[in-house]
Amino acid sequence: MAWDFSTDPDFQNKLDWMDGFVREEVEPLDVLLQGEKAIYDKTHPVHAKVVRGLQETVRAKDLWACHLGPDLGGKGYGQLKLGLMNEILGRSGWAPTVFGCQAPDSGNAEILAHYGTDDQKREFLKPLLESRISSCYSMTEPQAGSDPKQFKCRATRDGDEWVIQGEKWFSSNFRYARFAIVMVVTNPDVSVYEGTSMFLVPTDTPGLKILRNTGLGSEEPETGSHAYVHYDDVRVPSENLLGGEGQAFVIAQTRLGGGRIHHAMRTVGAVQKAFDMMCERALSRHTQGEPLSKKQMVQEMIAESWIQLHQFRLQVLHAAWTIDNVGGARARQEISGVKVALPKVFNEVATRAIQIHGSLGVSNEMPLMGMVTAALSLGLADGPTEVHKVTVARQVLKNYQPQDGLFPREHLPARRAAAQKKYAEFLEHEVANS
Ligand SMILES: Cc1cc2nc3c(=O)[nH]c(=O)nc-3n(C[C@H](O)[C@H](O)[C@H](O)COP(=O)(O)OP(=O)(O)OC[C@H]3O[C@@H](n4cnc5c(N)ncnc54)[C@H](O)[C@@H]3O)c2cc1C
Repeated sequence: MAWDFSTDPDFQNKLDWMDGFVREEVEPLDVLLQGEKAIYDKTHPVHAKVVRGLQETVRAKDLWACHLGPDLGGKGYGQLKLGLMNEILGRSGWAPTVFGCQAPDSGNAEILAHYGTDDQKREFLKPLLESRISSCYSMTEPQAGSDPKQFKCRATRDGDEWVIQGEKWFSSNFRYARFAIVMVVTNPDVSVYEGTSMFLVPTDTPGLKILRNTGLGSEEPETGSHAYVHYDDVRVPSENLLGGEGQAFVIAQTRLGGGRIHHAMRTVGAVQKAFDMMCERALSRHTQGEPLSKKQMVQEMIAESWIQLHQFRLQVLHAAWTIDNVGGARARQEISGVKVALPKVFNEVATRAIQIHGSLGVSNEMPLMGMVTAALSLGLADGPTEVHKVTVARQVLKNYQPQDGLFPREHLPARRAAAQKKYAEFLEHEVANS
C-alpha cells in the first residue's frame, strides 16, 4: 500500500511544458479577446490565424484531448493525470480549447463516442473532435432546472421523424453551435427518468428560434451566450435519436460525472491564480508604513485561502483517483463533494483577493470580479449546490444503520457500564491495591 503525493518525473516534464505554454502563448488571448464568445464562435478569425497553430503545437506534444481514449485521438490518461493537467488549463479561458477539452464540447463528444451510431459520429463527433465546430447541451427549461419532473418540452413521433415542441433555457453557446444535444420528454406516461430521450438537433433546423441570448451579470442585453430557445415543431429524422428511446438520463450521467470533476480540476487552477494575485498584492501595497502582508487580518485572509485551496486540491485529486480506481458510477459521493466545495472555495478566495486589492479589485482592470461571477455560476451549472449536498448525504448515509433502543450507541452511561464489565478484573485489582 502506498500513499504518495509526488508526480512521476516524466509526467512532471509535460506539466512544466504546459505551464510555460499556457502562461506565455494562451493567457494573452484571455486579455486580448475577453469573454467566451470568440472561444465558441469558430468563424472568428482568431481560430484560423492563431488558435489552430497553438492546437497543432499541443498535438505535436501529444497532449491533445487527453480526456479521450486513443481510439478518439486522445491519450486515455486517467482522471488523476487529467486533474494535474486541468489545474494548469484552469488558469485560462482559452486553454481548454487549445488543448481540445473545452466544455460542453468535451462532454458532448464523450456521449457521442459512447452512444452515437457510425453516421452520428461521422456527422457530429468527427468535426467536434477536430475543433471545427461548437456544440450545445440543451436541457434546462424556463420553469424547471434542477427538478426534471417539471420538464415540458415534448417530442412526438410522426412517421420517420420526431417533432419537438417546447422551450429550453440557458442553452450555453447555442448561438455559436452547429448542433444541440436536446433532452426531451418522449413518453409522459412513465417517470421522467425513463420517458426522456436525447436528440441531435442541427441549429439551422427550421422551427428553431432563439428568443433571447441571456448574459451573465452586467453583460449588455443580447451580448450573452446562454440562449432561451423555442423549439417550435422542430422536425428531426429518427436517426437523430441519441442512444435508445427513454435513455436520456442514463446518457446524461456519463456526461455530467466527467464534466463536474473536470470543472473542479480547472477551478483549482483558477483559485490558485486568484491566490497568487492576493499574495503579490499583499507584499507590494503599503499602508501606514508597512506592506499589507504585515497586517494580521491580511495574513489571516492569506492563511485561510491557502488552507482552503490545499484542502480543495487534495479533495479533487482524491476524487479523480477514486474514479480511476472504482469508476465514476461508484464515485458519486466524491464527485458531488467536489462540486459542492468548488463554488464556495472559488468565491471566498476570489472575494478575499478583491478585498486585498481594494478599489482596484472590484474594477474592470482586474479579472477578479469575473472570477466571482464564475464561482456563483459554478454553484448552479451542472446542478445546484443543494442538490449535490443531498447526493453526498444520501451516499454517506448508506454506510450507516439505524440503532435500536432509546439511547444512541455512544451514550456514555451504557458505554461506561460495558467498559466496566470488560475490564472488571483490572478494576478489582486497582481497587484492591489502592
Ligand atoms: C453559467 C451557466 C451555464 C449553464 N449552461 C447550461 C447549459 O448549457 N445547458 C443547460 O441545459 N443548462 C445550463 N445551465 C442551467 C443549469 O443547469 C441550471 O441553472 C441548474 O440546473 C439549476 O436550475 P435553475 O437555474 O432552474 O434553478 P432552480 O431549479 O429553480 O433552483 C433554484 C435554487 O433552488 C434551490 N434548490 C433547488 N433544488 C433544491 C433541492 N433539491 N434542495 C434544496 N434546495 C434546492 C437551490 O438554491 C437552487 O439554486 C447553466 C447555468 C449556468 C449558471
